[in-house]
Amino acid sequence: MKIAVVGAGIAGLSTAWSLNKRGHEVTLFEQAPRIPNPYAASGDQHRIIRRAYAGADGYARTISEAFEAWDELWADLGTRHYTPCGTLGVSQSPDDEGDAYLKGLDRAGSPYELYEAAEAARRYPFLDAKAIRYAYLNHEGGALFPARIAVDLVRLLRERGVVIREGAAIAAIDADAGRLVLADGEQKSFDRIVVSAGAWVLKLLPELAEALATYRTAVVYLDPPEDLKEIWQAAPVIVDVGGTIDGYVLPPVDGTGLKFGAGIHKRPHRPDEAREPRSGEGEQIRDYFSPPFARIPEYRVDRVVTCAYTFTADRRFFSKQIGRVTAVSACSGHGYKFGAAVGRRVAAGVESGDQVGLLRWLRAE
Ligand SMILES: Cc1cc2nc3c(=O)[nH]c(=O)nc-3n(C[C@H](O)[C@H](O)[C@H](O)COP(=O)(O)OP(=O)(O)OC[C@H]3O[C@@H](n4cnc5c(N)ncnc54)[C@H](O)[C@@H]3O)c2cc1C
Repeated sequence: MKIAVVGAGIAGLSTAWSLNKRGHEVTLFEQAPRIPNPYAASGDQHRIIRRAYAGADGYARTISEAFEAWDELWADLGTRHYTPCGTLGVSQSPDDEGDAYLKGLDRAGSPYELYEAAEAARRYPFLDAKAIRYAYLNHEGGALFPARIAVDLVRLLRERGVVIREGAAIAAIDADAGRLVLADGEQKSFDRIVVSAGAWVLKLLPELAEALATYRTAVVYLDPPEDLKEIWQAAPVIVDVGGTIDGYVLPPVDGTGLKFGAGIHKRPHRPDEAREPRSGEGEQIRDYFSPPFARIPEYRVDRVVTCAYTFTADRRFFSKQIGRVTAVSACSGHGYKFGAAVGRRVAAGVESGDQVGLLRWLRAE
């Protein structure tokens, strides 16, 4: 089939990858002048892949397929953009998110090492022993490198004959006719269209506002105190720091920076609004992390990266069939790790027409 993919985040790139492997004629449209779009959810240096899930056990099961799909992609790319540095969780109070992730590992039967507070702070001296109840290390998982994955996927797709159009914003879609209208007025028709437009999807398909809400957040890259630099470089990913901030940390592995992010920082916004960081925003995000980290004021703010993403009410992934269009969103702040697997599943769903099966898989039911 002749298939268009609108949006070259990880969902669009990996859908194009899988559709091409299935023998379809694929054209990928990206509004940004270059892929990856640094303002999209898949444009940053690193993202976490982890086994631990606090509540949604279906995703904890699906993660095996996610690891396997990444392995297929690494084989095709001839390189691996993943550092399996392991994942650490921290609990500050009973029933906090760090505690919930630990219970998730128990339910999944996934092994971990449990450290009481003093032992955790001895192993990871950036932790404040007085602020935590315990920490646990799961050796599975680590950091994926989205910007590098995007650049290499673009190269691979072009080599394999996918037409990639950068700086090509889609302005309108006729879902029944399978027609795209570009911002400059050009029109193109396809047998099927996959819309993987991330936080911009509501501009193309406003009816999806019933299911998808758009948020802005920001993450901060930090320069740690001199004596903690080597320790951070050897640290695992921190999936949750406990307490009430929904906070996570990506260590400076493999040439990346030390990044702190917190779920409480997100606010409802349209994707092109408030993209410049506010004055003092980096310090605000950094300071959420005291506790459980010691010496937080000694961390210097290097830069702040803003980001737009969508959420569903129940935080599960989303797809909807509208005429010839399949709109898909592996969203709610946890979709990157499933990127390659999502692409394979969306491609299979578009080819077979089994949209019910696709949605069931995306929702990890
Ligand atoms: C701060 C932050 C931290 C996160 N951390 C993690 C994590 O640790 N682990 C994890 O698994 N997930 C994480 N996520 C979630 C993950 O990043 C997203 O689920 C995933 O990147 C979404 O990819 P996507 O392809 O659906 O969307 P995007 O990456 O947003 O891609 C959409 C693309 O479509 C393009 N586009 C939009 N409209 C048009 C148009 N009209 N015409 C042409 N192109 C268009 C955009 O320019 C963009 O390139 C995080 C998200 C954020 C924001």
